Amino acid sequence: MSAVTHLAVLGATGSIGQHTLAVVRQHRERFVVEALAANADWQGMLALVREFVPRTVVLNDADAALALREALASHHTDVRIEVGADAVAAIARAPEVDTVVAGISGFAGLRSVWAAVSAGKRLLLANKEALVASGRLLLAQARACGATILPLDSEHNALYQCLGGITACPKQVARLTLTASGGPFRTRDPATFGSITPEEACKHPNWSMGRKISVDSATLVNKGLEVIEAALLFDRPGTDIDVLIHPTSTVHALVEFVDGSVLAHLGPSNMSVPIAHALGLPERLTLDVERLSLLTLGRLEFFPVDPVRYPALQLAYAALAAGQDACLALNASNEVAVQAFLDRRIAYTDIVPVIETTLACHTAADPSDIAHVFALDGEVRRLAEAAVVTRRRRAA
Ligand code: MG
Repeated sequence: MSAVTHLAVLGATGSIGQHTLAVVRQHRERFVVEALAANADWQGMLALVREFVPRTVVLNDADAALALREALASHHTDVRIEVGADAVAAIARAPEVDTVVAGISGFAGLRSVWAAVSAGKRLLLANKEALVASGRLLLAQARACGATILPLDSEHNALYQCLGGITACPKQVARLTLTASGGPFRTRDPATFGSITPEEACKHPNWSMGRKISVDSATLVNKGLEVIEAALLFDRPGTDIDVLIHPTSTVHALVEFVDGSVLAHLGPSNMSVPIAHALGLPERLTLDVERLSLLTLGRLEFFPVDPVRYPALQLAYAALAAGQDACLALNASNEVAVQAFLDRRIAYTDIVPVIETTLACHTAADPSDIAHVFALDGEVRRLAEAAVVTRRRRAA
């Protein structure tokens, strides 16, 4: 009964793309890889083109696309190689594609996510920033265009599974809980946070991910974005969403129902697991991954979130309470601050103050349409960049 799925994988050479293609590799009969997009890793893309033979490949970077074209010249392949963000959006709405895996990190992925939703595709969403920035506009567009959004974020995929879908009866649900590993600085003395390097921040204890999300996991901005993502996807106010520190990332999320029952989702810390769930729906795909052993694990530990160690989480709750505009500003200012930290322009301990300063001087105006979202994002980025410059001057 299993129909063939025609895939576009955006962010194909990154962590989500690689885990998606690892699932596809185990079920070649079920999937046709129609299109792949990546930023600049043309060598990684070359290997994927040889293996999956897609119709279309897009590289965001023009030099990288040129290098890929040259490398493929001797291969007698008729794969189309395109360049730039317009081309990424074009494959997200291409008629031959029915399912889009959105694995591009950050606000940069919003254009292609919007294109996929507007074309009524099945969208497997790992790009939480796109949802946080555009909020209910994206969900309304999905409804209007007949698109389905399935969360790939492990916690949200876990909630989806516990709730039995995206539209569980809200009256039956009391609370949602997301777990957070606590990142690489869970036990480090906060007095030493000022000297944290990008390399240290990108060393996540449980998950292997891109640099931006690794820093977000260290600050817990990632969990804050996930609280907003959960509030949007599952239509919750947000005050009923808790976060617990759970160092082994064994339990990904929990749902408490009004009768006191709690359903938890457990699984190995491997992104292929939630991706296989979403790719296989409504079926379960067999997956060759390491199995979870509770006997080996022995115990499950949970701790409250320390607001001194992780001040960013409160900012996210405050943004959610303030409205869509604040959520957009939280995301944009964080992206600017994290990039400045990775570029060694500001310290790790400057990330949260840059977000706070930006949120404080940003005048609220809830975005009315998607063009407004892009305009507001640009405006917030300019404010955040000014805050970065101020922090640098102060440090100098
Ligand atoms: Mg997550």
